[in-house]
Amino acid sequence: MHDETGDKPPTPPSHEDFQKKLEEMLKQFPGISSIDMTGFSPGGAPSPPTPPEEPEEKLPLDFDFDYKPRDVKAHLDRFVIRQDEAKKVLSVALCDHYNHVRLALEGKEQPNYTKQNVILLGPTGVGKTYLIRSIADLIGVPFVKADATKFSETGYVGSDVEDMVRELVRRADGDIERAEYGIIYIDEIDKIAAAPDSKGGRDVSGRGVQTNLLKLMEETEVPARSPNDIAGQMAAMMEASQGKGKSQNTITTKHILFVVSGAFDGLEKLVEKRVREATIGFAATKSADPEAGEIFEQAQTRDFIDYGFEPEFIGRLPVRVVCHSLNEEDLFHILKNSEGSIIRQYEEDFSCYGIEVLFKDDGLREISQQASHEKTGARGLMTVCERTFRNFKFELPSTDVKRFVVDAKLVKDPKATLEQLLSDHEQQARNVMYQLVRDFGRRFMDSHGFEIDFTDEAADMIVKEALEKNTSVRDLCAEKFKDFHFGLNLISQNKGQKKFTIEADTVNQPDKVLSEWVVKSYRDSGLEAPATSPKESEGSP
Ligand code: ADP
Repeated sequence: MHDETGDKPPTPPSHEDFQKKLEEMLKQFPGISSIDMTGFSPGGAPSPPTPPEEPEEKLPLDFDFDYKPRDVKAHLDRFVIRQDEAKKVLSVALCDHYNHVRLALEGKEQPNYTKQNVILLGPTGVGKTYLIRSIADLIGVPFVKADATKFSETGYVGSDVEDMVRELVRRADGDIERAEYGIIYIDEIDKIAAAPDSKGGRDVSGRGVQTNLLKLMEETEVPARSPNDIAGQMAAMMEASQGKGKSQNTITTKHILFVVSGAFDGLEKLVEKRVREATIGFAATKSADPEAGEIFEQAQTRDFIDYGFEPEFIGRLPVRVVCHSLNEEDLFHILKNSEGSIIRQYEEDFSCYGIEVLFKDDGLREISQQASHEKTGARGLMTVCERTFRNFKFELPSTDVKRFVVDAKLVKDPKATLEQLLSDHEQQARNVMYQLVRDFGRRFMDSHGFEIDFTDEAADMIVKEALEKNTSVRDLCAEKFKDFHFGLNLISQNKGQKKFTIEADTVNQPDKVLSEWVVKSYRDSGLEAPATSPKESEGSP
C-alpha cells in the first residue's frame, strides 16, 4: 500500500535534538551543503575545506512534460476503476498546469494564468487520493497528502499549513526546486468549512485555516525551515552570515498544485434546495433519490459558500471534480483488473513463504459483496481481505501447505476452510507416510533380498508413532527393524523362507517377535537354537 506519512507534517524538534537536527537539516538542502563550518566549530579548529560544487547549468527542474490528456487518462485507467469523468477533467487540468509550468521554466510564462487547483468531491475510498497520487507518480513530481483537520490557525496547536510545503521538500529529497512543482493534497477540506449549520459547529479557526491555505494556493514564500525549528533557524543564520542568497531559504508556492478533497456531507441538500428554488414553477422534479455524486455535479460556487467556505478560497479552486461511489461490480473490477489490486499484495505476502494463492472469480465476488456492505468504498476490500486471510497468514507459513484456492466458500467461512485445508493436508501427509512404510519394505528387499510386507494395521501404527514422535518414517523403521536382516537371514538358512509379513504386534515389539520367529524356525527344522540368536532369552516362547 501507499505510505500515508504525508498526513503528518513534521513536529518541531526539541532543543536536545539540536545538533542532530541541524546536521539533518543541512543534508536536506543541497543548496547549502557546501557551507564552510570553520567559523562555527566549537574549538575554532578549522574543518577540512569543502570542495566547491560544480556549477549547474541545467533548468531548475529536470522537467520534460509532454503528456497529452489522453495519455494521462490511459495511465489512470490502469489503476483507477470507474471515475471516468473525474479522470478526464483531472487529465486536462493536470496537463494545463504542467504545460504552464514548462512554459514558465522556459521563461515564456503566460501572464494572468489561473492555476488549476482542484476540488475533489466524493465519499471515502472511491479513489480520490489514488487518482492524484497516480498522476504525481506518472509525472514524477513530489506528492504530499495532509488532513485539513490537523491544522490550526496559528500552527501552535496542531500543524502549520506551511509544514506541508516543507514536507514536499522532504519528499523531493531536499530538492527545493523540485518541491516547488509538486502536488499538495489536502483531505477532509469540508471539515474546515466554517458555517455552523453545515457540520454542527466547526469552530471559527476553520476560517483562519482557510485564509492560511489561501495564501499558499495563491503565491507565497514559505521559509524552508519552520519558525518553530530552532536548528533550522540556526542553519539559516549561518547561511545569512555567509551571504547566501534568499532563494535557498524559501520555497515559492506559485507552481505547487493544490488538490483539496472531502465527502461534503450535507452539501447535496444545499444544492438540491437551490436547484429546487430555481426551478419552482418549471416542473423540473428530478428522479427520486439520486446519488449524492450526481447532485454534486451541479454544485456551484454559491453552494460552497453557503456550506462555509470563503468566496476567495473557493475561487482559488477552479477545477471541480466529482468521484462517485463504487458498487459491488466496481469493487469486483478493482480486485480483478486494477494494477494496484490488493490481491496482488496478498499473492506477494504468501509467496514470501513459498505459498501460491489462486483467486477464483466467485471468491473475488464474495469479497466484493462483503466489502460493499462496509460502505467505505474500496477501503472495504482491505477490511474484508484482512478479516478473511488473517488466520491463513498466521497458520500456513508454519505448515507444508504450499498452495490454496480462494473461492466463495473460503471467503464465506474462512475458519472452516482453513481447518479443512489443514486436515486435508494432514491426510495427504499421512498418505505419503504410508507410501514411505511400503517403500521401506521395497528397499529392504533391495538391500537384503527379503520381501517384507506390512499389514494395513502395522503401517497405520508406524505412521501414528512417527507423527507422535515427530520423526521420519524411514528413521523410525530403520530403528525398529535394525536387527531384522540378521534374524531373517537365520530363518532363511533354516527354512529357506524369503517372504515375511509385519503385523501390528511386530511393530509393537519388533525384537521380541523377531526372536520368536527365529526360535520357531530352529524348532520347525528340528535344530537347536544357537546361543547367538537375537534376543532369544527375552523373546522365546
Ligand atoms: P479516497 O477516495 O478516500 O481518497 P483512496 O483513493 O485513498 O480513497 O482509496 C483507498 C484505496 O482503495 C486506494 O489506495 C486503492 O487501492 C483503492 N481504490 C479506491 N478507489 C479505487 C478505484 N476507483 N479503482 C481502483 N482502486 C481504488
